[in-house]
Amino acid sequence: MLNLILFGPPGSGKGTQAANLVDKFNLKHISTGNLLREEKAKETPLGLEAKRFMDQGLLVPDEVVIGMISSTLDNEAHKVKGFIFDGFPRTVAQAEALDKLLDFKEIIIDKVLSLNVTEEELVKRIVHRGKTSGRVDDNEATIRQRITEYENKTAPVAEFYQKQHKLVNIAGEGSVDEIFKKLTAQVEILQP
Ligand code: AMP
Repeated sequence: MLNLILFGPPGSGKGTQAANLVDKFNLKHISTGNLLREEKAKETPLGLEAKRFMDQGLLVPDEVVIGMISSTLDNEAHKVKGFIFDGFPRTVAQAEALDKLLDFKEIIIDKVLSLNVTEEELVKRIVHRGKTSGRVDDNEATIRQRITEYENKTAPVAEFYQKQHKLVNIAGEGSVDEIFKKLTAQVEILQP
């Protein structure tokens, strides 16, 4: 299996690049943001709980997200060549829980690709995306809150994977193609 985490702040291009990597390496894309938005749209109990946090730019509680990932892994792990996690883990507790879930299935994370983008560029990109995405959290006030959550709770996840020697920093500004080439090169090093 080939299992990757695409890491970085909101607006760093994780969704776009995950879609490209999925196509190239035939992986299963797991985006907790997309899964939560689906639950929200269907107005399931989980979706309604998540909505209260998402619409304010706050992280959804760990137990909600970890439960969702756990059932996705149970349903998919035996069917796929590998996973690309996008927007997960977003806290150290989630990273620890993921390691436990994967250990149990004798699967490892091979690499964590971290996209680095400055805050001003992030805000610019998300405001621009908000014009077409229809996402209620793509407005400037909510974006600033999402970036604050990222700095306080998510940035420490990078250190967690740095200690496991899995973190690779990639400059996330430039064209989609240029960044994709850098990501691909990192994945190809892993392949025999
Ligand atoms: P995203 O599409 O990844 O930017 O996620 C949109 C929103 O969904 C975030 O602002 C959070 O409210 C929520 N969310 C997505 N993934 C997670 C996660 N791993 N942990 C907690 N909240 C999450």
